[in-house]
Amino acid sequence: MNVIKNYQQILTKIQKHCKEINRNPSEITLLPVSKTKPASDIQKLYDFGVRDFGENKVQELVEKAQQLPKDIRWHLIGSLQTNKVKYIADFIHLIHSVDRRSLIDEIEKCGMKVNRKIPILIQMRVAQEETKHGCNPEECESLLDYALSKEHIDVKGMMTIATFTDDKKILDDEYHIFFKNIPNKIKQDKTSIFSAGMTGDYLQAITQGATLVRVGTAIFGERQYT
Ligand SMILES: *Cc1c(COP(=O)(O)O)cnc(C)c1O
Repeated sequence: MNVIKNYQQILTKIQKHCKEINRNPSEITLLPVSKTKPASDIQKLYDFGVRDFGENKVQELVEKAQQLPKDIRWHLIGSLQTNKVKYIADFIHLIHSVDRRSLIDEIEKCGMKVNRKIPILIQMRVAQEETKHGCNPEECESLLDYALSKEHIDVKGMMTIATFTDDKKILDDEYHIFFKNIPNKIKQDKTSIFSAGMTGDYLQAITQGATLVRVGTAIFGERQYT
C-alpha cells in the first residue's frame, strides 16, 4: 500500500469534483481513517504533511497518540462510551459522535477537569440500519441547544454515517435528510463542519454539502479483522 500515493489521488479526485460542482476545494478536509492500521502508516502520511487522523476506538486512538508526534490532530469518529471520555478529554481535536445528553454531560464534566472547551460534532442518524448511532433528525436541535449551553463544549458542526451501500439513490436520500435537518444556527455559520462520506461515497457526500470526508480503505487498504 502506498498510502501517500493513495492520499494524493483522492485529493486530486476531490479537486476535480469540486471544479465540476462549483465548490471551492479548500472547503473540504480529507480525514484519513487509520483504524486497525499500524502507526507506521500514519507516520508516513505525517511525514508527508498530513496532521488530521480519525480513529473509531478510544483505546486504539490513545495508544497511537502515545507513539506518534504530539501535534497530530486526533478525531474520534466511532461511538463513544461515557466512561471513556476521560481518556481523550485533554487532547482530542474533535469528537464526531456525540448523540445523547448523558455523553454531553460527561464531556462537560471532563472538559471542566482538564480546563478546556472540547470540540464536538452532533451525530445525526439517517440510515435505516438499527446499528447506526446518532440522534434522530427531529431531536438534533434540542440536543444541539443542550450542548451549546455547556461551558466546556465547543460545537463545531454535525456528522452522519450513511448506509453502507452502492445505491446512489439511498445515499442521496439519506444525505438529503441530513442536510435538511441541520439546525439553522449551524447551517448559517460558515465555519461549520459537516462530516459525511467514506471511501464508497465521499464524492457524492461532497456534492450534497460535506466539508469533511472520512476515508479509510481507499487510503490504507482493506481492513483485516481477526
Ligand atoms: C471506518 C469508518 C470510516 C471509513 O470507512 P472506509 O469505508 O474504510 O473509508 C468512516 N467513518 C466512520 C465513522 C468509520 O467508522
